[in-house]
Amino acid sequence: MSIVLSDVTKRFGDSLVVSRVSLEVRDGELFVLLGSSGSGKSTLLRMVAGLLLPDSGRIELHGRDVTYLPPQQRGTGLVFQNYSVFRHMTVAQNIEFGLRIRRTPALRRKARREELLDLVGLSGMGSRYPDQLSGGQQQRVALARALAYEPAVLLLDEPFGALDVQTRSQMREALKDIQRRLGVTAVLVTHDQDEAFELADRIGVIDHGHLLEVGAPDDLYFHPQSEFVAGFLGGGNVLAGRAEGRFIRLGSVALPIPEAATEQEEGAPVRIVFRPEFVVVKAGASAPKDGVHSLGRGRVVRRTFAGALERVRLEVQGLQGARPVTPPLEYGQRGTPIEATRPASASEREPLKAEDDVWVGIRSFHVLAPSGLKVLIHVDGSAVADEGAMLGLLLGQAAGGPTTLLAVAEESQQVEEWQRRLEEILKRVGAARSPWLQSRVRIGKTVPEVLAEAQEGFYEIVVVGGPARGDRRNALREELSSRLLAQAQAAVLRVKRARPQLKRLLVCTAGGEPGKRDVVMGGRVARRAGAVVTLFHVDREPVSPEEDVRVKRHLEQGAAMLSALGVQAEIRSARGPVIEKILDESAAGDYDLIVLGAPTGPGSGRYGEIDHMAPVLREADRPILIVP
Ligand code: ADP
Ligand code: MG
Repeated sequence: MSIVLSDVTKRFGDSLVVSRVSLEVRDGELFVLLGSSGSGKSTLLRMVAGLLLPDSGRIELHGRDVTYLPPQQRGTGLVFQNYSVFRHMTVAQNIEFGLRIRRTPALRRKARREELLDLVGLSGMGSRYPDQLSGGQQQRVALARALAYEPAVLLLDEPFGALDVQTRSQMREALKDIQRRLGVTAVLVTHDQDEAFELADRIGVIDHGHLLEVGAPDDLYFHPQSEFVAGFLGGGNVLAGRAEGRFIRLGSVALPIPEAATEQEEGAPVRIVFRPEFVVVKAGASAPKDGVHSLGRGRVVRRTFAGALERVRLEVQGLQGARPVTPPLEYGQRGTPIEATRPASASEREPLKAEDDVWVGIRSFHVLAPSGLKVLIHVDGSAVADEGAMLGLLLGQAAGGPTTLLAVAEESQQVEEWQRRLEEILKRVGAARSPWLQSRVRIGKTVPEVLAEAQEGFYEIVVVGGPARGDRRNALREELSSRLLAQAQAAVLRVKRARPQLKRLLVCTAGGEPGKRDVVMGGRVARRAGAVVTLFHVDREPVSPEEDVRVKRHLEQGAAMLSALGVQAEIRSARGPVIEKILDESAAGDYDLIVLGAPTGPGSGRYGEIDHMAPVLREADRPILIVP
């Protein structure tokens, strides 16, 4: 390994710019670090070069720990975007500069300089000054200078960023060629996806200082693990559905889960990605042929000429519930947006125009890695919702899945004000925006917008403020909670007052069988938060011996399930009025979170007529997670 980074972290003030990056770059490899502007690429590269020290972590070059070595002792050659050449020196003097410092004898220096001029295609230009060269030629000088003393690794920070398109493409070819010939290990930083594809042996995608995925260009393109990489590399279509047996349910469509996909938990969100060129569009009434997964009928929204390819934006009708991650929904659009490309030859054979009715199918698709517990936090301006945000962020952090802070603005003029408010909340808890922590403001009516966000994003837990005395938003939060449970099948976390930690969970099962989903959900939260669980069962009245045995068995199964998740659990039971007993236990045990199964409505049988949720919610001051 030429370069080994282990857990490299860098902060500027209180902003985390590079977060625990671990990476191995192989000998002779051209590694491209790809990310949008501000993602931390340059900072990472500067740490490898020794121009910046990491706050923690370790950097090795060729097996040597260089973490705290000064730049000149590392053997790295550097090329920056703004031509790093000395204006007052000739090309030859520029190239020889490093050799002079290293006291290389004049003859050897001259030979090396000629070699390098030849290598970068500047033979005969040694006596010119940089101002007499084009931008591309100046970067060739910078490259030759960086290579002069045969660096162990070559580091390039957006080296072609300032060049015009044509020169840039020539420079890429030249760089690739030179790097190959010398066999020098190189790391190049860019925000340009095409550049990364063209140059890289392997690509590392970085976002908000996190190295998300590393792989060969085609591997990342066809088999990304995360939504971000799927969307960032080439316009990908990402849809989210749910696992249903061996299928992925996307509205009225069921797609078979490919053999190669990782095991999917029943009912859990599953996200698939397919590239525009894998979409099959067929005009007329007949369905796409064999070997194509049909997505059903759709409509052409628009068609764009793009040279050898034609881009077709489609809207497909039957995929309700499938959430389009990318491309995003456009205003007023109701169906699911799908991006397709077709070769120009196809568009000649079978022309398409806006508003055409078509069949839409996909040749193949790829399943993304499961995303962990997704937490959505609704902020409505009330103190209880802010408390909810505190706990939700704590939970999100523990859950390690994506967390979104959401506000709904009634009108677009209020969006900025809400954004500021969300920003304040993040600041208050010292949470840094990351690929897993986002904030968003939607415009419209509260209940439908939060519901839509929860459904589209397949959030498993939605945090809503608890009831607060005399708050006019109480009714809205009640309605929101019950619709989230019923329509989005999301667990709802109601919070009156945040807790500083999530260490003790009380999972209540009352009157009859303990619900399986509440125990599983409690277990998943506890596992991630490192909390212990108390399984608590209340019987109102003395029960028959058979009933007693049955309940005991269920509780033991619950405890076994928790221990299989690696969660420490104890069982407690009580007899008497359910609500009082739950309230007593929650106060006595100093729990951080109470988990309750949602009542399934009067007469539905599962919890009998006991609606223990509402009174517990009213009386207890602990956060309550209601599981559908
Ligand atoms: P990239 O090269 O991917 O565009 P950088 O590594 O240059 O990103 O910067 C990442 C983040 O760190 C940016 O938000 C930038 O503003 C910040 N940053 C970079 N250098 C400094 C510095 N010396 N002091 C404070 N903030 C910095
Ligand atoms: Mg940069």
